[in-house]
Amino acid sequence: MPRIRAAYHDPDGTRYGIPTYWWRGAPHGYATRRQLTAAGLRPGGQPVAAQVLWRGVGGTRAAYLYRVDLARPKRTATPAQRAAIGKALTARRTCRICRQVRPYYIPRSLGECLACAFPQEDAA
Ligand SMILES: [Zn+2]
Repeated sequence: MPRIRAAYHDPDGTRYGIPTYWWRGAPHGYATRRQLTAAGLRPGGQPVAAQVLWRGVGGTRAAYLYRVDLARPKRTATPAQRAAIGKALTARRTCRICRQVRPYYIPRSLGECLACAFPQEDAA
């Protein structure tokens, strides 16, 4: 085992104050805020439960972990909010030139869809 892993392994928190694991060494049941968000959850006011330390750019980096069993579901949008969001997303995919709804967001730098911005004049 590389020495670096042992240095960052402190599951009892005696050295760092909170349970500390090396990268990918964290036990199941913990997740970063980003992982919770991806799962449709939020920390829900709980304190940081553990941390992952690793040597990264500029020195020791830390990622804070939350307990999954204490996480709460993300606030769900009301039907009206969802409709508004859906409309906004559709608008972002609608070209103002040809009025077509594209499978991608209209690039803000172009202001129109790719077909309008780069017409293929030599298309068969
Ligand atoms: Zn277009």
